[in-house]
This record gives sequence, structure tokens and C-alpha cells, in this order.
Amino acid sequence: MKKQFAVIGLGRFGTSVCKELYKLGHEVLAIDHQEEKVNDITPYSTHSVIANGTDEKALQSLGIRNFDYVIVAIGDDIQSSILTTLLLKELGVKKVWVKAQNYYHQRVLEKIGADRIVHPEQDMGIRLAQHITSEKIIDYIELSADYSIVELLATEKVAGKSLVELNVRALYGCTILGIKRGEEINIAPVPTDQVEKDDVLIVIGHKNDLKRFEDEGL
Ligand code: ATP
Repeated sequence: MKKQFAVIGLGRFGTSVCKELYKLGHEVLAIDHQEEKVNDITPYSTHSVIANGTDEKALQSLGIRNFDYVIVAIGDDIQSSILTTLLLKELGVKKVWVKAQNYYHQRVLEKIGADRIVHPEQDMGIRLAQHITSEKIIDYIELSADYSIVELLATEKVAGKSLVELNVRALYGCTILGIKRGEEINIAPVPTDQVEKDDVLIVIGHKNDLKRFEDEGL
């Protein structure tokens, strides 16, 4: 379903969020206080306006409270990021996602009601490190401190085996959610489905169980 998004702050992060949402077919309002940034995003957004995120009247006149999500991607200017977030929540925006610069910024954002706080550089660093240290890990999503979803490459060891034979849940305590084979993805695997070498297994579980499956099961 088509959703309405607004992105405030068009640095590298905000720009890439904006372009991707637009590419996915959503309505995106792009906002920055620098004219040049706004001009650059015009072909990749539904509307683009020059406005200051800390200007309450400007936010109101844009009808900001009607958007499904507002993403605050103001970086270095932590004070503006916090004030913008506060105004958005006071104006009644239901979902405000904010890019945090550091731990203290995050704590303030939590206190003023930001709905989700992201650390793009930190998150990407973790994913890269996970990927680089294990050739079997293709991608990695941290769900909490303990639980993750990982994409693991199926090796020769499991090739030709069905999910019943692998018995991953009983042996390792984690669950195979899907199997990717080339461009195809099986999102509802049944016990008789077989795994082939170089399939990508999408697995959810506790990080210790996932590690055991990666080390011993594959
Ligand atoms: P990135 O790493 O994503 O490039 P950054 O951390 O370097 O971002 P900045 O360049 O500091 O972030 O800010 C991102 C954008 O936010 C800039 O384009 C800047 O003009 C815009 N911005 C900063 N303050 C405001 C504000 N109060 N209102 C609207 N836009 C703002």
C-alpha cells in the first residue's frame, strides 16, 4: 500500500532514504533548509521544499501530522535534530524515525518520544564485520541484543538434504524462515524441501544458536 513519508535533512543518509522510498512507489516529501539540496532531490521525490525542521509553523503548513512516517536525518546539528523531533511528536506525527549521532543523542531522543532511532554508520559497520569474518554469512539483521535474522550460505555439507533431515530447530534451536535460490525465494518452506549448495538460508534465532548452526551445521 502506498504510504506517505517525509524526510527532513537531505545529507547522504536522508537522500538515500528518500530516493529508495520514491523508487518503491511511495509519496515522499523531501525537506531541507538548503536550497541546493532541495533542488538535487526534486527528480527523486514527490514534493521537495526548503524549510527548517525547527520551524513549527512551517511544519504545520506542510501538514506534517498527516504523514505516516517522518524521518529526521539531520546529522551534525544535534540540537536541531532534537528540536525537530520534539516538534513532530508535539504536532501529533505517529511515527518519527530519527538518525542519532551518538549514544547521548539517542538517550535524549528516547526521552522525547522518538519511535525508532537508527545509527546507520554503526549498523553498517556491524553488518560488514559480520560478513567479513564469516564467508557463510551473507547478511545480518539484529532484532535485539540476543536475537537476529541471518542469511547463511548452504555448503556442500547440507546439499541434497531436506529440512526434516537437517532438523535445525531441534539440533540448534533456530528456525529456517526461507530459502533463496538465485532469483527465486521460497518464503514458506515445507519439511520436505531440499537444500542445494549455494542456496541462501534465511534463519532466525538466538545469536549463540545461530553461531552453532553456522559452525557445526553448515
Ligand atoms: P550524512 O552522513 O547523511 O551525509 P550528516 O551526518 O553529514 O549526514 P548533515 O550534513 O549535518 O548530516 O545534515 C544532513 C542534512 O540536514 C543537510 O543537508 C542539512 O542541510 C540538513 N539540515 C540540518 N539542519 C536542518 C534543519 N534544521 N532543517 C532542515 N534541514 C536541516
